[in-house]
Amino acid sequence: MHPLLNKKGFVIDIDGVIGRGESPIKKGIEGVKKLRELGKKVIFVSNNSTRSRRIMMGRFQRFGLDVDEDELLMATYATARFIAKEKRSAKVFTTGEPGLVEELELAGHKIVEYDEAEYLVVGSNRGINFDLMTKALRACLSGIRYLATNPDRIFPAEDGPVPGTGMIIGALYWMTGRKPDVVVGKPSKIIMEEALEILGLSAEDVVVVGDQIDVDIKAGKAIGAETLLVLTGVTTRENINSMISRFGEKPDYVLDSLSDLFD
Ligand SMILES: [Mg+2]
Repeated sequence: MHPLLNKKGFVIDIDGVIGRGESPIKKGIEGVKKLRELGKKVIFVSNNSTRSRRIMMGRFQRFGLDVDEDELLMATYATARFIAKEKRSAKVFTTGEPGLVEELELAGHKIVEYDEAEYLVVGSNRGINFDLMTKALRACLSGIRYLATNPDRIFPAEDGPVPGTGMIIGALYWMTGRKPDVVVGKPSKIIMEEALEILGLSAEDVVVVGDQIDVDIKAGKAIGAETLLVLTGVTTRENINSMISRFGEKPDYVLDSLSDLFD
């Protein structure tokens, strides 16, 4: 039996582990089903900043995997939770898409214009334009608390790289010299600590699974958990050594896919 099967909880990345865009990764899904048969607790943690839990549940259904809302922790929900701990029903201006707005509102926050906001929340927006950037710029210059859902510079889409949330963080930095006060998504500890809180487990009881050393493995190390790198996404047999030296972090375990835990 693989030593990681002694863990009680599995903190699992989505893109590159369970699916690529709208295509499921069969061996990832198979692995999750087997973990559940063993009675393991599972939470899916992703830096996705455009999908709410409700939207993500639909994606999992199309993958043939049923998940509960409390098994999903995207950067959208994690950011809304984080703000709620600092301030109940905060006034928020966000660059984000409806998925992020949905989670902010579900957590009790109010979406307001940039000049009334207590928080600037930067998340990806595939419809970003001059008007929205102008508002974000003014919110940023006003000095209000500034959160980013995640630090992703580039997202590896099915047909090639596309801009990540870094597109907006980078533009604001270039314009104002200001970086986010808080970054919620991986490799930040914030989203990982929320995952542990939802699971009701401590770091030594979980393994953090993902396809990227600079994102998932670093996030696992940040909370002191053991880490498993799977080669179904960004990292491959061919580039793994250069990735390890580039990011200065080594996963505790490496497998071709999540279901290889059971081989
Ligand atoms: Mg990934």
